Amino acid sequence: MNQKDFERTDLERLVRETRPLAAGGRVATYIPELAGSDPNALAVSVMDGGGHLLEAGDRDVRFTMQSISKVISLSLALMELGETEVFSKVGMDPTADPFNSVMRLEMVSSHVPQNPLINAGAIVIDSILPYDDPQRAFFAVREMARRLTGNPEICENEAVYLSEKRTGDRNRSLAYFLKSVGTITADVEAVLDVYFRQCSLEVTVADLAVLSATLSMDGRNPMTGEMVLPRKICRTVRALMATCGLYDGSGAFAMKVGLPAKSGVGGGIIASVPGIMGIAVCGPSLDNQGNSIAGIALLERISDEFGLRVL
Ligand code: GLU
Repeated sequence: MNQKDFERTDLERLVRETRPLAAGGRVATYIPELAGSDPNALAVSVMDGGGHLLEAGDRDVRFTMQSISKVISLSLALMELGETEVFSKVGMDPTADPFNSVMRLEMVSSHVPQNPLINAGAIVIDSILPYDDPQRAFFAVREMARRLTGNPEICENEAVYLSEKRTGDRNRSLAYFLKSVGTITADVEAVLDVYFRQCSLEVTVADLAVLSATLSMDGRNPMTGEMVLPRKICRTVRALMATCGLYDGSGAFAMKVGLPAKSGVGGGIIASVPGIMGIAVCGPSLDNQGNSIAGIALLERISDEFGLRVL
């Protein structure tokens, strides 16, 4: 399988066929600034290991990474601290609970979030990043985002950041609980500031296709040629994406699409075809698990038509 098998016209057709499914979902409104997203927007981008890019649909749509950024902060933490340290602070198992669930944290006696791709886990990851102050921690996450996407201009969307900071009491409650039991030792508001900022990093599907391709190619960015991450970290991250990347929708997604993936409530999903290519979609209308409804259908069609499934 290589990208010659893909034609832009195939991708355009699949976008056309799956776009109507957006009507069955809703855009996220719990972050007020996201409520204005176009529910019918749908875009896809694919980058292969040779750095060739294909795009189809509403490819100019800009959206915020939201939880896709958890892959970036996790990669940074694994680089800076190593696997043993990171997985002493978060687990590595899937959860059947929603992305922002509070319940399980209290029930598990260690009070360790089950994995780094749910909100509680990602907030803990931000709390252990080894930088002197939150601004430096955020800049390190943003720099990692820029290198993984090959786009030195990736920046936060200030309005989305402020909107979530103002209304993010669910995440605040997770973080204060984790502080109360000693899982987080840093200042909670400072940690949340890093988290809210990284969630607001603004991208296009092409940016995310490069990010996904870099993870697929074991850390080598196919667009810039830079070795951004060691192979071992990419394997770890892809394994977590395969088991935990779509929250309580991860099992159904593995059956439908069969690829390691990570979603965000901005409507983006990255999917990795290891050793071959990275795929990214964006469709802001979400299903009940907070995952892009047309985006999942589009990935399913792409995976089926081009024989990409690895799970
Ligand atoms: N910023 C979002 C939150 O914490 C991210 C959730 C997601 O994208 O799934 O609620």
